[in-house]
Amino acid sequence: MQQQGQSDQEKRADTSFFGQPRGLSTLFFTEMWERFSYYGMRAILLYYMYWSVAKGGLGFEPGLAASIMSIYGSLVYLSSVVGGFISDRILGSRKTVFYGGILIMFGHIALSMPLGSIALFISIVLITLGTGLLKPNISEMVGDLYTEYDNRRDSGFTIFVFGINFGSFISPILVGWLGMSYNFHLGFSLAAIGMFFGLLQYVRGGKKHLPSSSLYPSDPLEPEDVKKLSVKVGLGVIVFALILLLMNVMGSLNIANFITLLSVIAIATPVIYFVVIISSKKITSTERSRVIAYIPLFIAAAIFWAIEEQGSSVLALFAANQTNNNFLGFQIPASWYQSLNPFFIMLYTPFFAWLWMKLGKKQPSSPSKFSLGLLVAGLSYLFMVIPVALFGSSAKVSPLWLIGSWAIVEVAEMLVSPIGLSVTTKLAPKSFESQMMSMWFLADSAAQAVNSQIVKYYTPANEVNYFTMVAVAAVIFSIILAFLIKPIKKLMEGVN
Ligand code: GLU
Ligand code: ASP
Repeated sequence: MQQQGQSDQEKRADTSFFGQPRGLSTLFFTEMWERFSYYGMRAILLYYMYWSVAKGGLGFEPGLAASIMSIYGSLVYLSSVVGGFISDRILGSRKTVFYGGILIMFGHIALSMPLGSIALFISIVLITLGTGLLKPNISEMVGDLYTEYDNRRDSGFTIFVFGINFGSFISPILVGWLGMSYNFHLGFSLAAIGMFFGLLQYVRGGKKHLPSSSLYPSDPLEPEDVKKLSVKVGLGVIVFALILLLMNVMGSLNIANFITLLSVIAIATPVIYFVVIISSKKITSTERSRVIAYIPLFIAAAIFWAIEEQGSSVLALFAANQTNNNFLGFQIPASWYQSLNPFFIMLYTPFFAWLWMKLGKKQPSSPSKFSLGLLVAGLSYLFMVIPVALFGSSAKVSPLWLIGSWAIVEVAEMLVSPIGLSVTTKLAPKSFESQMMSMWFLADSAAQAVNSQIVKYYTPANEVNYFTMVAVAAVIFSIILAFLIKPIKKLMEGVN
């Protein structure tokens, strides 16, 4: 089905959006609005969960609220495995992204109603599934706008990532201000409206500007696959239900243990992926060696994401409880600090783009960048030890401490996130391309699963220990990785 008489080839050759195919504009704004809704919601969700009922919150324990933030983030990226599968084998990416957006919008609508924890859990399920359908597939569609040799590809991704961060930058300000200064449900409504705009322009622009190939699955399910799949899914559901039943019989079915169960699944999934890919007969020995090289990079990425993602739990608690948010009589909503992460990304991106261009072939290899990134991420947490050591846990310190910590960790993000995305695609075996793409999101998922277990230990009494221990773990792994750079490079077989 060709729209507007333009063939897929012509669409790819199109240069009408800053020299890029017009379809990039559609995907850019869709993802910008989706991230607007996601990070706007997350910027106030933690506070919504632990603020007292009198203040419009749900009155959860702060530790439990932080743990829910983490496991929620973990499930959101874990579900990209399902989203990738549905797109590749059943619906094609265009429809999968659309249905994902619809689920996400209803997820925010659920929270916009004053229905308490029931609405929260319904929303978590909807947004988890919806983001799983949308997020991996919209990135894949960006890749599909270009032919393999189109050298606009990297800059296309850079523009796309800019959209992600622009959406994530403005929403904690707007949604945060509405949600925290007026009413949480009003804030969540704005997140829903954001996703609505995203969907509107996706449907309109998609028809005209996206390649028609995105309407079909790339590797459709055969009837015999359906049978095998139903058996597997059925078995999975039964095992999960049995575990829950067993926990119930043993009297240990409570929210904390349920979170632990989910985190075990989120950590086991990438392990199973690695085993399946490495032992597959479909890959060559060079490909196998590259996947093995990817293991330490995956672990490094996970440790980095663990620190980065604690920005919306641990540092968000610090922002609300230990930061002086009074600015010339104006009370800064604590959610606004969530804009610092994307702000620094947007600020640094041009510099790093220039740096890698300038260094050209002399630039450090991906494992070296990862090792440096981990070191810097660790430093951002060591930096947070200073205000607590100087002023204690009950003082309100200057916002500059948090700003400084984010300024540091985002340097690390520049060394890990875009590099990781690109090295993942380069190390992927031919027959497991989309699984490797999911693997990249699984690093973030596993990281947040670990976070759901450790953020509980972040309490005012334990703060110095907490920041120090997480920082030391990152620094130690950075050093180990530094020693592994040579062997990893060898295993990467020509990829750098
Ligand atoms: N902040 C990133 C985004 O929203 C995280 C995704 C990732 O783990 O790569 O796109
Ligand atoms: N750094 C995140 C991402 O890469 C954005 C955020 O946390 O707000 O998009």
